[in-house]
Amino acid sequence: MKIGFIGLGNMGKPMALNLIKSGYELTGFDIQRSSTDVIVEAGGKRADTIDEVILAAELILTSLPSSEACEQVYLGENGLLAKVPQDVILVDTSTVAPDLENRIGAEADKKDISFLAAPVSGGVVGAENRTLTFMVGGPKEILELVQPHLAIMGSNIFHISEQYDSGTNAKLINNLLIGFYTAGVAEALTLAEKSGLNLDFLYNVLNVSYGQSRIYERNYKSFMAKNDYEPGFSLKLLNKDLRFAMELAEGHGIQLPISQALVDLYADAERAGLGDKDMSVLVKRIGEQTIT
Ligand code: NAD
Repeated sequence: MKIGFIGLGNMGKPMALNLIKSGYELTGFDIQRSSTDVIVEAGGKRADTIDEVILAAELILTSLPSSEACEQVYLGENGLLAKVPQDVILVDTSTVAPDLENRIGAEADKKDISFLAAPVSGGVVGAENRTLTFMVGGPKEILELVQPHLAIMGSNIFHISEQYDSGTNAKLINNLLIGFYTAGVAEALTLAEKSGLNLDFLYNVLNVSYGQSRIYERNYKSFMAKNDYEPGFSLKLLNKDLRFAMELAEGHGIQLPISQALVDLYADAERAGLGDKDMSVLVKRIGEQTIT
């Protein structure tokens, strides 16, 4: 199986490297050319255009940072759906607007091209350790064809439904919870620090109490305790997902006031220049907010 990989950032890179390590012939493309260096070093090939990826692949995976990038790569004039032959399978692992995944799916159906919208959870560590969770929307028979290849990158593969946006909807619910937990950890640990508690010791206490969570473990151990906020999962990407979740809620005519407060909180941190840092950096912004 020859694989093409478009978007080799924090997630795409480790996913692609694991495919290469498992013996796949992989061709990578990223608008930031230097992002493909590590792919070439690992034995993969570099493509300079999407066309070159199409020529070299039977399965094309994408991991892109925004709806705009995804729309361009899939639906653009020189995009995948304009050029790809019918025997190539396309799998988008990005988290983008659910409506966009439906539009890409509809265009793929029209052209009889196989497509799945399969966003992932588990972060960079999950991508490195092959423990990602895939939440897949689209035809089950296509998932059956690509499942063994996705299993190289993830340990949990769920078919959410035939609807193209269903995996993304599940993923947005996941990320809404991540937004809650991250803000909760940031506020609670700011208060803990101000109260003179030893955060390392407190972690050991709460790790065996109900305050424990995977996000507390991740945010504290991998970022806050090291005072190093290189992503990871950037705060601006989480904020993007929270906004999509709010649009989803709006589409269903429901108000989520606490989620709205979260969106405002993360937007404020982004405006303060923290968008490119890992989401756990929110603790810095909260620590700065004092009562005057
Ligand atoms: P990133 O910004 O680190 O990487 C995105 C890559 O895509 C960059 O290298 C960029 O140069 C490239 N790119 C942008 N536009 C392109 C285009 N038109 N053509 C080709 N390449 C293009 O982002 P990331 O953290 O790797 O996230 C990728 C996707 O995965 C996002 O949708 C994100 O929400 C999702 N995600 C991220 C994490 C995480 O922990 N980082 C976890 C789960 C899901």
